[in-house]
Amino acid sequence: MRIVFLGAPGAGKGTQARRLEARCGWPQVSTGDLLRAAVAEATPLGRRAKAAMDAGELVSDEWVMALLDERLRAEDCSGGFILDGFPRSASQARLLKELLRASRQRLDAVVMLELPREVLMKRLTGRRTCSATGKLLNIYFSSAEELAASRAAGGELMQRDDDTEETIANRLSVYERQTRPLLARYADLLRRVNAMGTPDEVFERILEVLPSADSMMPAANPAGPSPGKSYG
Ligand code: ADP
Repeated sequence: MRIVFLGAPGAGKGTQARRLEARCGWPQVSTGDLLRAAVAEATPLGRRAKAAMDAGELVSDEWVMALLDERLRAEDCSGGFILDGFPRSASQARLLKELLRASRQRLDAVVMLELPREVLMKRLTGRRTCSATGKLLNIYFSSAEELAASRAAGGELMQRDDDTEETIANRLSVYERQTRPLLARYADLLRRVNAMGTPDEVFERILEVLPSADSMMPAANPAGPSPGKSYG
């Protein structure tokens, strides 16, 4: 399956895409992660992309496509993939279509994670990573035990460079302006999912709107995919 996860920053795309990868095996391909890796390695592309990322603006299509094209050519993507954070604009949607067409592929589903703006703000401004365990935490939503465990492990709660209030506000407005209009473009593939609730609850809803996800797992359905359940 070739799936796109759409949704505002903070809607939980990364969390859910990783869960779907673990469950179904299609790799999660996050342009944000690819860009952050390029920044961390201080490649020429990473150095140039950092300013746009820190401001919450989109990195140029040329650079994002260079990273994405290389990633999607990898062997593990040959049976499908989950795009997280891409496409983010009409021009990227066009480029994706061309890229897929060149290899005779097409998208099977677009999952849209929906969440009210106030919740998005809290998720993003409260987001921290524990420096000791690498665990993703939130100062508003994580339990007292989880936060205490991080302190006990000697961890510091680190904030992503682009999780400041100002950058977050800009990322949300870039999303409204450039990414939300893609919903109309993908109307025929669109599966809307309420992203309120625990990660487990949201994941269950995603599996419900992707009926072929289960049927494509050999162990879950030895008889193979049933006709009429696939989007392909
Ligand atoms: P989020 O969705 O939480 O804002 P991501 O990790 O997906 O975070 O992206 C972080 C930043 O990386 C974005 O604000 C943007 O600057 C850049 N970025 C990620 N994906 C793209 C993309 N497809 N096109 C342009 N820039 C991107």
